[in-house]
Amino acid sequence: MALVVQKFGGTSVGDIDKIRHVASLARKCKEVGNDVVVVVSAMAGETNKLVDLCTTMMERPDPREYDVVVSTGEQVTIGLLAMALKTMGVEAISLLGSQIAIHTDDVYTKARIQKIDIEKIMKHLKEDRIVIVPGFQGIDTLGNITTLGRGGSDTSAVAVAAALKADACEIYTDVEGIYTTDPNMVVDARKIDRISYDEILEMASQGAKVLQIRSVEFAKKYNVPLHVRSTFTEAEGTWVTKEDKGMEKVVVSGVTCDKNEAKVSILRVPDKPGIAARIFGSIAEANINVDMIIQNISIDGFTDMTFTVPRIDLAQAMDIVNEVCEEIGAKDVVTEDKVAKVAVIGTGMRSHSGVASKMFKALSDEGINIMMISTSEIKVSCVVEKKYAELAVRVLHEAFDLGTETV
Ligand code: ASP
Ligand code: MG
Repeated sequence: MALVVQKFGGTSVGDIDKIRHVASLARKCKEVGNDVVVVVSAMAGETNKLVDLCTTMMERPDPREYDVVVSTGEQVTIGLLAMALKTMGVEAISLLGSQIAIHTDDVYTKARIQKIDIEKIMKHLKEDRIVIVPGFQGIDTLGNITTLGRGGSDTSAVAVAAALKADACEIYTDVEGIYTTDPNMVVDARKIDRISYDEILEMASQGAKVLQIRSVEFAKKYNVPLHVRSTFTEAEGTWVTKEDKGMEKVVVSGVTCDKNEAKVSILRVPDKPGIAARIFGSIAEANINVDMIIQNISIDGFTDMTFTVPRIDLAQAMDIVNEVCEEIGAKDVVTEDKVAKVAVIGTGMRSHSGVASKMFKALSDEGINIMMISTSEIKVSCVVEKKYAELAVRVLHEAFDLGTETV
């Protein structure tokens, strides 16, 4: 007998029939002898509607009251799911974040979970009930309602699993698992059976929409095995666990593509101490994530610097950079937003060489120019022209032999 936390996203609880189906999955898990805690998101689209209501009422919604409103989507689904189970004759109870309680800091709209009381959940599990927990919501030390940021239910589920020392956390979604690359881009993308936390973290940071990054950080920290799988089929999904020996044999696990980046170049920057700190310090203060940075060799005491930022932050980044440039006496700033970042990721890179060169060769064979390169221990990432993004992903998927195994 095990303790299992099951998490269902918005599309899995999108209407009454789907909620009934989720109830049947929870019941099945309970019937084979497990203790079951279910964490649910709001019904698909509901959180967006609540956000719209807030911004219609107030251009920049008061953060405390925004959380009071947007947290309600999950209250609806936990109640409905409990009803669905009861109509099946299964004992179940829903508990709000404040009733459990799920304690967070007081940063409204993007609060972080600090501690989860498990007494109430444990009591109901002992009394043979399925316990239903809302994703996304918590309370601060004063009892104010908080929310965890969009997509936060993944993090709620993993945090609940960690607090309960659950044997597994099943993340149910509308795809069958995590793929070697986006199946919409490459037809023979393959579902990955097992992958490490670190690889998923890299994939998420390179633009793959798999899990909320914070949920994976939590899972890694508390060593909670995650099973990402489909609500609508019985197939095994993808297990995300700590790295093991077998994983190292796979040199490259996946190819990612991020078309939401932009490139900024600052020309003729004086090459002296403190300049990079000045530029990137100001950008960091605005909470803008810089991913790649390249500094050219300096000539006559001047150099060029190029870096990438998320495209949605480009305008704000430019305001900052223009101001700083004037101050430090740089000559000009140029931007390029028709770029994409493609990356190959794999734990096996730690022990195998030649990944970068194979990647560069595969791209050059297709005449794709590399504008920027960055690497980590388990990732090589290149900026290319956006129009080549999909071609780049396909040739890399092929070059590293990631496609469906044919028998
Ligand atoms: N309902 C919230 C959202 O749409 C949380 C979640 O779905 O994970 O962002
Ligand atoms: Mg969601």
